[in-house]
Amino acid sequence: MGEAERHLKRLIEDSDWVSWFENKLVRRGDCLIWTGSQDNTGYGRIHVKKHCERPTGRNFFAHRAAYAIQTGEILEPHDLILHQCHTRLCCNSDCFEIGDHRDNMDDLRNSGNIAGEMNPKSKLTEDDVWDILDMYYEGGEHGPYSINSIVNEYSNLDIKKGTVSDIVYGRTWKSVYDEFFEVEA
Ligand SMILES: [Zn+2]
Repeated sequence: MGEAERHLKRLIEDSDWVSWFENKLVRRGDCLIWTGSQDNTGYGRIHVKKHCERPTGRNFFAHRAAYAIQTGEILEPHDLILHQCHTRLCCNSDCFEIGDHRDNMDDLRNSGNIAGEMNPKSKLTEDDVWDILDMYYEGGEHGPYSINSIVNEYSNLDIKKGTVSDIVYGRTWKSVYDEFFEVEA
């Protein structure tokens, strides 16, 4: 079990956190629909600092957290959740089959839906974006970072000043931005 799985395990053992999570679900037919933040492929995403071993927290897919809460089982990264209801925001484990990447591709093709969980949209990850927001708004031991110093920190990714200012003003990665200001430290 890796750090992410251990983090999730601590969360599902915390009844306050589980209540917070479950309050974001609404029933629609057989499905339990996630009403919190989404990523840009339409899956529910949460960023959690609580019980995380690092200060910046960690992103989880809402449906994977739901599966852990409802079954008590922590999936490994190669275990994929296949939504049999074809509703990406659904968090009802009764709607899920567990499969591997190949099953997921077959499943998505069959549903006429080609953009999967694994589909990258940007060289920045959600974790990078979260770290950028954290550097700008919370800062490090020498106080908040300026946009220029964040660009320097990420020089290996060759990102532009405009990319960083779009992130810190919520013009891009809106779901991460919203989640950042919603999450309690
Ligand atoms: Zn469903």
